[in-house]
Amino acid sequence: MKKSEKKELAHLAVKRLKELYPQAECALEYGGDPWKLLVMGRLSAQCTDARVNIVCRELFEKFPSAFDMAEGDISEIERIVKPCGLFRMKADNIKEASKMLISDFGGRVPDTMEDLLKLPGVGRKIANLLLGDIYGKPSIVCDTHCIRICGRLGLYPESLKDPIKIERILKELIPPDEGSDFCHRIVIFGREICSARAPKCHSCPLYDICGRGKSKK
Ligand code: SF4
Repeated sequence: MKKSEKKELAHLAVKRLKELYPQAECALEYGGDPWKLLVMGRLSAQCTDARVNIVCRELFEKFPSAFDMAEGDISEIERIVKPCGLFRMKADNIKEASKMLISDFGGRVPDTMEDLLKLPGVGRKIANLLLGDIYGKPSIVCDTHCIRICGRLGLYPESLKDPIKIERILKELIPPDEGSDFCHRIVIFGREICSARAPKCHSCPLYDICGRGKSKK
């Protein structure tokens, strides 16, 4: 498929998902607080958003700000975030990232990829989430749903799983001001319709434009 055709396909997918899910909300309930989104983004690695939302009710009650987290007792933080898995590393990351926010960024979550990547535990996925959701900057959050579904659609080979390469490809295909919302919508779409194990191709609104869907005709 030519690049122009891929672009057309990507624009159509953006349009159809927008019609299907007019609201494009982040599944993490961070209440508009950038620091909370940073913490929740870190906890969500290899964990469901639903579990992170539950765990964070207690976490943010005990540690309601970056200042509280930076001074928090690490064993208490570990205890609370344990249900999210990888709890020692995640607890250490959110405490150290909170400390760095205060020491290096005046307590404010930075608004550039370069600075965000300096924070312990913050990779491109979380950085893109923050840039898109908090600062309204062009961003592509390459999570497991995005990687799987855009590959199935035919925007790149399905065998490609490298999030950095995929982010670069999608940035060229998806309108910059749509990327962040598209990624939120694709998470819901991935849960409801295009799941990893049992995609519902025959009732899918992208069936006629999807490479995988067409191959099932
Ligand atoms: S047609 Fe099937 S593989 Fe393609 S997006 Fe829809 S559910 Fe996913």
